[in-house]
Amino acid sequence: MEMIQFENIGQLVTLAPLATEKRTTSITYADLGIVKNAWMRVHEGCVHSYGEMQHCPYAEETLDLKGALVLPGFVDAHTHPIFAGDRSSEFVQRLSGLTYEDIAKQGGGISSSMRATRATSREDLEALTLMRLQQFLRYGTTTVEVKSGYGLSAPSEKLHLEVLQALKPKTPQEVVITCMALHACPPEFSSMDSYVTAMKETLLPLIAQEKLASYVDVFLELGYFTPSEAMDQFMAQAKALGLGIRVHADEFTESAGALSAARWHAASADHLQHSSREGIAAMAQAGVTAILLPGTSLYTAIPFTDARPFVEAGCAVAIASDYNPGSCRIYNLALLATLAGIHCHLSLPQILAAITYVPSVSLGLGTKKGALAPNFDADFVVYNSISTVEEWLATCGMQVPDSVFIKGSSALKTV
Ligand SMILES: [Zn+2]
Repeated sequence: MEMIQFENIGQLVTLAPLATEKRTTSITYADLGIVKNAWMRVHEGCVHSYGEMQHCPYAEETLDLKGALVLPGFVDAHTHPIFAGDRSSEFVQRLSGLTYEDIAKQGGGISSSMRATRATSREDLEALTLMRLQQFLRYGTTTVEVKSGYGLSAPSEKLHLEVLQALKPKTPQEVVITCMALHACPPEFSSMDSYVTAMKETLLPLIAQEKLASYVDVFLELGYFTPSEAMDQFMAQAKALGLGIRVHADEFTESAGALSAARWHAASADHLQHSSREGIAAMAQAGVTAILLPGTSLYTAIPFTDARPFVEAGCAVAIASDYNPGSCRIYNLALLATLAGIHCHLSLPQILAAITYVPSVSLGLGTKKGALAPNFDADFVVYNSISTVEEWLATCGMQVPDSVFIKGSSALKTV
């Protein structure tokens, strides 16, 4: 397919003003770059041009979208989809009053997923993860960041990163891989620092040599990992090897997560319920994207992150799913977008940018993903029965996209 022209688009939401200015803050309605009653020409998988139907150029190959709403494909910059086992019983335990931390202390939580994932073959892990990536696609996510982190040893983490690498050509989505060996301290190690040092010396060189991941991530939290000399050394070494940094920060307590993310010049700091004003200001100064995860708050009844201090400080704000086996089994970024509006206090344009262009920039993809500007990949979702962005937000993710296109081609398998 060389050239195809999509016609009669009811509302085409391009976010082109942000993409053109490479801007991720001070987002207003005008930045949505909406064209009503539009056409869009796609050439060799990229957006070529677009405009209003009254000035529609002739094209040989066309597709009539009959008034549909078209949004850029969603970019989910925080997921944990490579795991085995089932932690549904923990969900039920939480309903009877136990907290995430209580369950972790009883051997549940990340340790439970680690045991099940370590015991699962490469082939089975690949099939499970591929199935989950297809679920993300069904809900309109065309770019997805995936984290390892249930291996928690150099050989297991390496294997899981290899599984993720092997998946890349098997799914139409853009997949960005993050190594999260620092998700929890495994039972083989008696201290956090000894595990961090071991991962620095054994795993980081393997990742760099075999180009297994683009980023490393750490669960910076009391009871998991806390800022230390070993941690600073791990992050410095990761940077020296060309890896980017992402941080799970300040989810349950103020754990100097935002401040550390700023000090390490992380691409993102995620969760951020308890970040200090000082930490937020440092993130803004260092250009760290704040990634809010309202699904985890909904699922485990912890507070939602208030986006307003981040927006006021000049931080870029994204929304992601945090899809994982224990604290959020939600693939649906449109649902989480509406929740972020209600509970994180983001406006409509901020919300749309937070699931498209802003996370794309935080993943280093800001010149090709997350907007429908000329030369960007033609990744987009089509809603036949929704005609405006306002209606899309108000449907709370209950309407799944009727079509999903990646690089101009239909990406949903018809069963
Ligand atoms: Zn996470």
